[in-house]
Amino acid sequence: MHETMVAQSIFESIQQLTNEHNARAVEATISCGQFNPINDEVLNFAFDLIAKGTPCEGMKLNIKHIPLSASCKQCGVRFDYDVYKPGCPDCNSMEFDFKEDAPLLLEEIELEPN
Ligand SMILES: [Zn+2]
Repeated sequence: MHETMVAQSIFESIQQLTNEHNARAVEATISCGQFNPINDEVLNFAFDLIAKGTPCEGMKLNIKHIPLSASCKQCGVRFDYDVYKPGCPDCNSMEFDFKEDAPLLLEEIELEPN
């Protein structure tokens, strides 16, 4: 499952930090784009399983979804693409250029000394 792989990679990054700083993780924030659809609940569940018994156990994981920006090829308007409402908000055209999607990113992490 996609979320399990994401949880694993987040966990590894955070664990490296907790090891380096001899600390435990309290809270972390990740962000991801629209082409990297993540179900918050599934990700949190997967993360909790992986983090059990590690310095990341009980850590709060915040997930920010970054909208994908697009521009309409017909009228040129820029808008945040919504997968549930595809189409230009101005002229309803279905042809647009997408900006680069936001990568999956570990944005912030709060550590607490052991
Ligand atoms: Zn348009």
